[in-house]
Amino acid sequence: MASWLRSLAYLLPQIWRALKQGPRTVKYPFGPAELPEGYRGRVMARAENCRGCSMCVRDCPAFALELEREGRDAYRLIYHPERCAYCGQCELSCNFDAIFLSNEFVPGAPGRDKLRVVLVDRRPDTST
Ligand code: SF4
Ligand code: SF4
Repeated sequence: MASWLRSLAYLLPQIWRALKQGPRTVKYPFGPAELPEGYRGRVMARAENCRGCSMCVRDCPAFALELEREGRDAYRLIYHPERCAYCGQCELSCNFDAIFLSNEFVPGAPGRDKLRVVLVDRRPDTST
């Protein structure tokens, strides 16, 4: 049997099966993506709980968290998603339930510097 005929004999049932099954992918970002409950998405914070203790920063193995201190009670907790390993250590290290891994994707950005997220802004000139 000619090789193209063998290929056709192999491919036709596959194509038929795929057509019968319908789409197996989701339309994200044009539609919602259904993520499993345990999916580790971007890191978020409950800013009102944060005490600026920096335990999450200290324990992050990927240097994805940074605490910019401007005084005793003035600080910013910054998250760098491009460095994050989504290991969940920050959530485990925080004693105040202030940081957690969400079930959301990290939104796209035109450059690495644009990915930087201020999770907590505790400076006198800000309301948080
Ligand atoms: S999930 Fe892991 S890598 Fe990401 S910020 Fe938390 S501790 Fe760091
Ligand atoms: S998120 Fe938790 S561990 Fe990190 S600085 Fe705030 S209180 Fe401390």
